[in-house]
Amino acid sequence: MTHSRRELLGRGLLLAGLAATGSARAQNAACYDPATLPLSQRSRRRAVSFVEASGDAAVRCGNCAFFTVTADPCGTCSILGGGPTQAGAVCSSFAPKGK
Ligand code: SF4
Repeated sequence: MTHSRRELLGRGLLLAGLAATGSARAQNAACYDPATLPLSQRSRRRAVSFVEASGDAAVRCGNCAFFTVTADPCGTCSILGGGPTQAGAVCSSFAPKGK
């Protein structure tokens, strides 16, 4: 069986994406379990387009004014009503620290 370059590239990107998602899940699992968050937290997260893994190292919870570290990289966010997050996540309410 032969595979075209396009098929192989697509599979490579898929595997890279799965690895990144798995990495974000593993990091979050150390801080909190997204599957057990109450409905109020899920709603807040949806409202601010919260994502578990920021694509920009400078724009992430760890660099946000609303983030409070509890046990690095874990913390809480005042925009999320004090709900749990972790340094690598981000949302649309990001505000850089110190500005
Ligand atoms: S406001 Fe958004 S980016 Fe800032 S700490 Fe909260 S969830 Fe993270």
